[in-house]
Amino acid sequence: MEEELFLFAPDETPPKSDGQLPPWKVLSVEDDATYQASLSHALNGYMVKSRPIEMLTAPSATAAAELLATEDDLSVVLLDVVMEDDDAGLRLIDTIRQVLGDNALRIVLLTGQPGMAPFNDVMKRYDIDEYWNKADLSSEKLRTVVASNIRTWNAYNELDKARRGLNLLVEASKQLSRVTNIEDFCRILLNEIGQLIGMTRGGIICARSGNDASLDDLQIVSSAGVFALDNHDGAPMLKQFPDELQTLLKPLLTRAITDKQHHFSDRFSVLYFDTDKNKAHRYIIIVESEAPLSQYHINLLQVFSENVHNGFNNIVLCNRLSELAYFDPQLHIPNRAWLTRHLDNLPASERYHSVLVALNIKEFEELVLSVASPFLDGFLQQFHRKLQQRFRSQRVIARVSGSCFIVLLDSADLPSTSMMARLNHFKIVTDNIQLHAEVNVALMPLCELTAISGRELLHMMDSTLLQSQREHQLLTHYHPQYLSSILERHQLMQGLNNAIEQGRLVLMFQPKVRLSDGQVVGLEALARWRETDGSYISPAKFVPVAEMSGLINKLDLHVLHLTVSAIKQLLKAGFPMPISFNVTSSDLDDLFFMDELDSICSKEPQLLQWLEIEITESQTMQDYQHVKPLLQNLINKGIKVSIDDFGTGYSSLQHVTKLSATHLKIDKSFIDALAEEWGGEPIVDLVVRLGKRFHYAVIAEGIENASQVQALKALGCEFGQGYWFAKPMELPALLTYLTHITKGTDGHQK
Ligand code: C2E
Ligand code: MG
Ligand code: MG
Repeated sequence: MEEELFLFAPDETPPKSDGQLPPWKVLSVEDDATYQASLSHALNGYMVKSRPIEMLTAPSATAAAELLATEDDLSVVLLDVVMEDDDAGLRLIDTIRQVLGDNALRIVLLTGQPGMAPFNDVMKRYDIDEYWNKADLSSEKLRTVVASNIRTWNAYNELDKARRGLNLLVEASKQLSRVTNIEDFCRILLNEIGQLIGMTRGGIICARSGNDASLDDLQIVSSAGVFALDNHDGAPMLKQFPDELQTLLKPLLTRAITDKQHHFSDRFSVLYFDTDKNKAHRYIIIVESEAPLSQYHINLLQVFSENVHNGFNNIVLCNRLSELAYFDPQLHIPNRAWLTRHLDNLPASERYHSVLVALNIKEFEELVLSVASPFLDGFLQQFHRKLQQRFRSQRVIARVSGSCFIVLLDSADLPSTSMMARLNHFKIVTDNIQLHAEVNVALMPLCELTAISGRELLHMMDSTLLQSQREHQLLTHYHPQYLSSILERHQLMQGLNNAIEQGRLVLMFQPKVRLSDGQVVGLEALARWRETDGSYISPAKFVPVAEMSGLINKLDLHVLHLTVSAIKQLLKAGFPMPISFNVTSSDLDDLFFMDELDSICSKEPQLLQWLEIEITESQTMQDYQHVKPLLQNLINKGIKVSIDDFGTGYSSLQHVTKLSATHLKIDKSFIDALAEEWGGEPIVDLVVRLGKRFHYAVIAEGIENASQVQALKALGCEFGQGYWFAKPMELPALLTYLTHITKGTDGHQK
């Protein structure tokens, strides 16, 4: 075989510590001691690729098998066929390939009796690389055979190593991609680097610093091997090394940092990484190896570094995401999600001794609207600082909504009552402007709430605060009743939703009459929730819950459908009269609701004249500027608008001259008060006059007796509604009632 038939990559095997390259190991298995000696002699001092040959010998196949099991890195076996048995050599081949599983080892078969091992058969059946007749093998030829087989073995080995390296790389990269926390990442990283370079001794250390920091600021994140430290927790890295090593390392580190590149030297390799996000951090990994790293290992590390670099960036990204998810962006303190998670993880024993204090800044929305954002940031920072001062022993302060902060503290650290009283007022000075922040405070000891989820706890805290706002209390204690009322409300909501979907939300109709002659002039549709047992639940119970949950729009849309259907049935039965139904102001912004009205407008415009909405005075006035054009739009379509419970709201009189309405419905409380001296009369009188003056039809609601009818008539009120005339009834009963009264009865039930 030609010496240079193949060109192999330069051998990268590192020299031994004495500078000499390690020898190739060749095993001669030969029972003829004289022949074996001649083989050893022929190869003695022979160099292949500048490395000597170390000749190992075995006098039998059995001895060879033992040696093969313990020796690493054997490259070639020169194997005699006939030894203790005729085919001992051939059986040894099976052992090598099948038992030891070594497919790289080159096997050169030598035989003195060609007839014992027929050439083709043997080569095919056994995995043999070459087959030589001892008689044909001169010393020179032997050397060529050995050299070419060593080269082939070496090439195979390099390929195999590369394949294994690739597997290691993939595996190592997989390991890294799974972690999102920097400490775990560095620990796995050091482990994987160790595996990649096949480190048995030596050490790896990973440190981090801000991007502009000096070498002394590099802090250890993780360490392994001879550098392994039990508790490094941010210890300065360089100080861990003795002085002479520091002197050695400093220029290497400086070079890596200046060039922003990895540097490999005899004993130490320095890997450099920085993170993309504003290059906030740089990471330095120092690898100390017992021998200089081979080019092969350097290549592996270079490729792996790409993954490491991505890994560092992923972690920065994950940290950023988790910061966004769990921290308040303005104050960089825990947010609601963080506190929820924290409460969930708090052991019951610790919860038992804990208390939550919620502080809600009053009129925060107004503040947001009236100041610039830097001022608001300053205000919030100040407020947070004051909370830290007032709750010195707090465990956490979280901002759970724009205006609300929650402090978690040990019950023993709860401020005194006098101190708590001072929590309602904060003097905040920002940009030389002094503001008084008024705060609602709610307090919730967790001792009896150890099994409740964090989410539920915060929800209960919200409702406690809401309660304190409603009742204008400055300090409210959580009451266990809140929990049951929350659960009750929740059940009510679910039940109502089912009732709507199962058609158990029905309408009752209450007549409206002309007081002068008792003529029925219209009807009001009132929602009833029919239970599965046939009983009814009053809207006074479910409407407020529906309003709180947003279910009200679905409910009112359903009522609109039922009302339209009732109008059609009444028309068919020969009773053309308007039906009013109750809406909330949010219906006017609800797309489904408004679409439905539009669709009636376009498809059945003849029905609009019979349709009337009732909206309470307080809802109308709450955001009058917004509601007014929406109501006007309905009037323009031909729908009537009645202002319900009129007189109970605030500031309505100042708007009464330009209300977008067709009817005013005087609230029942004024009708009730008619009997009393100096009672409801002046208000009823005023509303009736205003109605006449500004062309609103005026109707009195909740009339229960004849004297009220008389009084109302005397005041000039034209229409009325109430139990005196008729209670709300279902459609079939209504039809009977209407038929009955048109036959001439006086129009009221007793
Ligand atoms: P409202 O619109 O002011 O309805 C009048 C309420 O007074 C009705 O109670 C009616 O049954 C009751 N009433 C009528 N005449 C008399 C009387 O002479 N004496 C007494 N003591 N009560 C009388 P109801 O049906 O329980 O409705 C309560 C409130 O629930 C309604 O007040 C209305 O604001 C709301 N509501 C009812 N149905 C709906 C609906 O479909 N949608 C919305 N959003 N609210 C509704
Ligand atoms: Mg009403
Ligand atoms: Mg009313």
